[in-house]
Amino acid sequence: MERCENEVEYYIESGFMNYKEILTKCGYTNPYGKIAICNECLNNRDKLKSIRNHEENVKADNDWLKSCNWGEM
Ligand SMILES: [Zn+2]
Repeated sequence: MERCENEVEYYIESGFMNYKEILTKCGYTNPYGKIAICNECLNNRDKLKSIRNHEENVKADNDWLKSCNWGEM
């Protein structure tokens, strides 16, 4: 997958009324477990499509991991 060098800003909750700024490089997993996409790539439909496909694959992996979660036995 083609990656660009832009960074996407996220603000995640860190305690009461406190937010932490996180910079995630475009195409990498953000703090919410999704793929970070910069505005430039959001306007690039081909790129967005490949990122969406990648996200589906990650989700499938997670479902698979959940189904073999020994901790819940
Ligand atoms: Zn980008």
